[in-house]
Amino acid sequence: MHKKSFIIFIFLFSIILAAFILKKICTPSIDISKVPFGSIFTPHMFIMEWDQEHGWHNQRIEKYHDFSLNPACMALHYGQEIFEGMKAFAQKDGNIGLFRPEDHFNRMNISAARMCMPEINVQQTIEWLKKLILKDKQSLPTQAGTALYIRPTMIANESTLYLKPSGKYIFFIVLSPVGSLHANGFNPIAIWVSDSFTRSSVGGVGAVKTGGNYAASMLAQKHAKEEGCAQVLWLDPIKRTYIEEVGSMNIFFVINETLVTPELTGTILPGITRKSIIELAKVSGMTVIERRISIDEVIQGIKEGSVSEIFGTGTAASITPVGQIKFKNEWHTINDNKTGPITQQLFTLLQEIQYGMKSTNWIERI
Ligand SMILES: *Cc1c(COP(=O)(O)O)cnc(C)c1O
Repeated sequence: MHKKSFIIFIFLFSIILAAFILKKICTPSIDISKVPFGSIFTPHMFIMEWDQEHGWHNQRIEKYHDFSLNPACMALHYGQEIFEGMKAFAQKDGNIGLFRPEDHFNRMNISAARMCMPEINVQQTIEWLKKLILKDKQSLPTQAGTALYIRPTMIANESTLYLKPSGKYIFFIVLSPVGSLHANGFNPIAIWVSDSFTRSSVGGVGAVKTGGNYAASMLAQKHAKEEGCAQVLWLDPIKRTYIEEVGSMNIFFVINETLVTPELTGTILPGITRKSIIELAKVSGMTVIERRISIDEVIQGIKEGSVSEIFGTGTAASITPVGQIKFKNEWHTINDNKTGPITQQLFTLLQEIQYGMKSTNWIERI
């Protein structure tokens, strides 16, 4: 009898062990550094709906799924759509930290107001976001430089071709595990100055995150690639003289040891990374100036050596050094096409905060 139950035990044990090993072999472990940015998603999503009668309602977390939309859905025709891009980071102590979520959702409400869309309740949305992240916490990558990229989105969902603000909206959040955009090293990019295309117009929507801005930027981006550059350097829409942004990032210059960034004039997206870098630089004792800065001043400064570093800032890549500028068919090289010390220092400071190596109120723990 004893012997018999021992044999049964061994038999069952072997089956469980075999099943375990088989599962290990068959589940491909993803190397996040090889996955293109924003191309994979976690198992769940948050959704809520808005109409005039109920306001925001039917808040829920569901399995990640496709939407079924009426072909007359207004977002598809008139582009009434806004989004945010933010990140959660695996903290050094094993927790999960959201980077400045209130700032991101406040900005989304500014986008909503500009696009005649309903505002969301910031605190409640942060609570739902936390629930969603906790549900999918297995999907949070933990290797250096990785994060969970968070994409809150709002779309107009009334079915009509009549042009007016929609009477119905869907708000959703999806999560995408992302690797470091600097996986191959913190290497400077080349940028192409467009003196014909502009990103934004005076009185327009360049200061908010609405889909049409990005659709409108793609042709210039294509030209930049054809010119051998990674991104477009956007100039102001009136004079094509003053520097605004680089790609979908804000831009900074180190000029005679001072950090200079274009002032927010209404045609520039007010980045949370931009704001953070300004604050970090000031705390580190640097002088930071927000002012208009012309492309001629920058080219002249590169030639004379007063412009020693240039970098872009944004949630996706945090900081991207710029090593070369192509302007009117001429190449100009900054700091020998190497990442400069101030760029490196600010990048490190920001990372220390994001991964919880320094405690700040910029990280909201989940
Ligand atoms: C999102 C965005 C940025 C960067 O904003 P962050 O809050 O730093 O991510 C800069 N420029 C444009 C056009 C953007 O869409």
